[in-house]
Amino acid sequence: MPVLVMKFGGTSVANLDRIKRAAKRVGVEVAKGYDVIVIVSAMSGKTNELVGWVNETSPLYDAREYDAIVSSGENVTAGLMALTLQEMDVPARSWQGWQVPVKTTSAHSAARIEEILSDNIMAKFAAGDRVAVVAGFQGVSPEGRTTTLGRGGSDTTAVAFAAAFEAERCDIYTDVDGVYTTDPRITDKARKLDKIAFEEMLELASLGAKVLQTRSVELAMRYKVKLRVLSSFEEQSDTAGTLVCAEEEIMESNVVSGIAYSRDEAKMTLVSVADRPGIAAAIFGPLSDAGVNVDMIIQNIAEDGRTDMTFSCPTDQVKRAEKAMEDAKASGEINYHDLIADTDVAKISAVGIGMRSQSGVAAKMFKTLSDEGVNIKVIATSEIKISVLVDRKYMELAVQALHDAFELEKAA
Ligand code: ADP
Ligand code: ASP
Ligand code: MG
Repeated sequence: MPVLVMKFGGTSVANLDRIKRAAKRVGVEVAKGYDVIVIVSAMSGKTNELVGWVNETSPLYDAREYDAIVSSGENVTAGLMALTLQEMDVPARSWQGWQVPVKTTSAHSAARIEEILSDNIMAKFAAGDRVAVVAGFQGVSPEGRTTTLGRGGSDTTAVAFAAAFEAERCDIYTDVDGVYTTDPRITDKARKLDKIAFEEMLELASLGAKVLQTRSVELAMRYKVKLRVLSSFEEQSDTAGTLVCAEEEIMESNVVSGIAYSRDEAKMTLVSVADRPGIAAAIFGPLSDAGVNVDMIIQNIAEDGRTDMTFSCPTDQVKRAEKAMEDAKASGEINYHDLIADTDVAKISAVGIGMRSQSGVAAKMFKTLSDEGVNIKVIATSEIKISVLVDRKYMELAVQALHDAFELEKAA
């Protein structure tokens, strides 16, 4: 029988009523003749609570225990969803990552899926199960320990299952009815896109649009998974939601397709480091070894052989970054006067494949922000995106102004 993957995010399984509602949708697809793989997230707020407990117990925690704790939210939802389906007379069974198994690397808290073995679930489908409810976001390391895939990782679980089981489609059910020109929570002028290209979605996701985890888009692109984002709260038709697809499937592409933001950015400045060959390696080597994801970098003009080095990284990695720099200073690898962490910044990005062929996008972006009196602290560009770091208090204003400037309310 054809296989369909349906993923339900945290708000879509936030309580027993919502689980029932999601289960009914699964029932509809089962009735159409699909064997369904349902991927579930933890109930909304649960993962944050678990992460909070970990941080309170041990700020520089052992990542293996983080995973043991944080993966548990999904186990509860998977069991509840299986029970709900059984109550509806739909033969269903829950699966934790290790039971499938979903084999991952041993990079705890940020593991990558290496292989999903389909035999166990296929055998159950052959024996009469119609639904496999899989706990999203988790897998098992070569050492046999539970791993997690990074926040938002259930999206990646879903796409990886769709690829492994050659599913007809991978439907991501969430609390918005598709991918928008920007987060609809920031402006009601945001418009739902019927289609978005993989490349654009990849950039939007990696620049902060939470609606899909970056890695899930990467996998969908690589394995040509038919990926759709849609609402679990609205009635569905076959054309509902947003299709994430190849660029060729989109007739007209906008210069800018969307604005993304990330409030979880920190700007770190190493004050007065020696300006000598090898200094960048001496700074960014230890940061990378400490697992700090450095994003933007600026090295200022040197004076008297000393310079300031600024970089950005996620706010929750500031402590790790500080420790890595202090250790490198203590061991004499680098020398600096001060390390200033500015955690009151946000990153705003404009994304669009049309930028490849159209110039002037950066100029328009900078002019718009300047007209609003928003100071730009750091800039980074690539072929299809421009990102700036600004004071966090201007985040909403900046997103709204750019959304207006690029006339995204006219997008579709
Ligand atoms: P789930 O729990 O279903 O995985 P998430 O909270 O991870 O849902 O992602 C959905 C949220 O992503 C929406 O509620 C919305 O606020 C946010 N979001 C950010 N950018 C966008 C965008 N461009 N389009 C749609 N939603 C977006
Ligand atoms: N529950 C996990 C998280 O909040 C995974 C997910 O929902 O995708 O990050
Ligand atoms: Mg999510």
